[in-house]
Amino acid sequence: MTTAKVTATPAPALLSVRDLGKSFPGRRGRTGRRGAPIKAVDGVSFDLAAGESLGLVGESGCGKSTTGRLIVRLLEPTAGSVHFDGGDISHLSAGEMRPLRRNIQMVFQDPHSSLNPRQTVARIIADPLLVQGWTRNDARRRATELMDLVGLIPEQLDRYPHEFSGGQAQRIGIARSLATSPRLLVADEPVSALDVSVQAQIVNLMERLRHELDLAYVFIAHDLSVVKRVCDRVAVMYLGRIVEIGDKHAVYGRPLHPYTRALLSAVPLPDPVAERQRERITLAGDPPSPAAPPPGCAFHPRCPKAEAVCRTERPLLRIGAPGQHSGQQPGRQPGEDREVACHFPGD
Ligand code: SF4
Repeated sequence: MTTAKVTATPAPALLSVRDLGKSFPGRRGRTGRRGAPIKAVDGVSFDLAAGESLGLVGESGCGKSTTGRLIVRLLEPTAGSVHFDGGDISHLSAGEMRPLRRNIQMVFQDPHSSLNPRQTVARIIADPLLVQGWTRNDARRRATELMDLVGLIPEQLDRYPHEFSGGQAQRIGIARSLATSPRLLVADEPVSALDVSVQAQIVNLMERLRHELDLAYVFIAHDLSVVKRVCDRVAVMYLGRIVEIGDKHAVYGRPLHPYTRALLSAVPLPDPVAERQRERITLAGDPPSPAAPPPGCAFHPRCPKAEAVCRTERPLLRIGAPGQHSGQQPGRQPGEDREVACHFPGD
């Protein structure tokens, strides 16, 4: 089944994800028989231009982190494709991926567990460069530059990760990811493990680096206010699929999918009066198991707008660039960068 091609800009895509899927074997029951496969990611498609930033948001277990891992090829897809800079990287071996690693890097959620505690910071940052064949002296020089770039003191290069706070450790992780001057960073919940007081500093840092270095981001987060700050576009995921994607101003200003509306209604507002007056949308129940997704629209058991057709027909994101659809999607402004998988999008 073909799902969406969503193109936001006329620039050629740096990253093209098409009908991407990842299934894991079902768990064994008491009888020893395996249950149904678990579709963690199911038909995800989007484009990302050079220097562009796309946020992937949704509840825990919606498949956003698995999508990130498929893009950087820490996992192999079971369906669909990932093209980077025009080349298909979906099924490259570890050896074939090695030269590409310099262009595609990942920032992890928990900085301390992603840094080797037995290595100095200098070694941690230089490691990707040594793999690419740099000399130790050149790699050390580059590590010194990177410490400065991420707001750390270069004199701390010979310290170990446990000597740094969580925020500083995440700066080290970011420095490591930037060592090879990548074009794409996949950041998997980069601030969610940090104290609230330092989250804003890391978000500011990532925003500054993106503009200074012309980086493209796939920014995975459950905090929609963080995504709004860092990203140009946002994709909302539910049960392994994208249910709404588009320009952040359009999506945040006027969400069209009932799930997006519910997520946004839970984001705290800075104005205390508006915060007291706004209406929260409470969804019934928990997300269904990806091993047994509901028929039709997977969101229908929790959707306040569900009708009979929602229980039988799965709504798809439409194929085509903004303004190029054969018909105008209900609820969407003409030419708007927005796609929604819903039979009844809108207010
Ligand atoms: Fe709700 Fe139906 Fe839209 Fe699904 S298709 S989100 S159930 S209105």
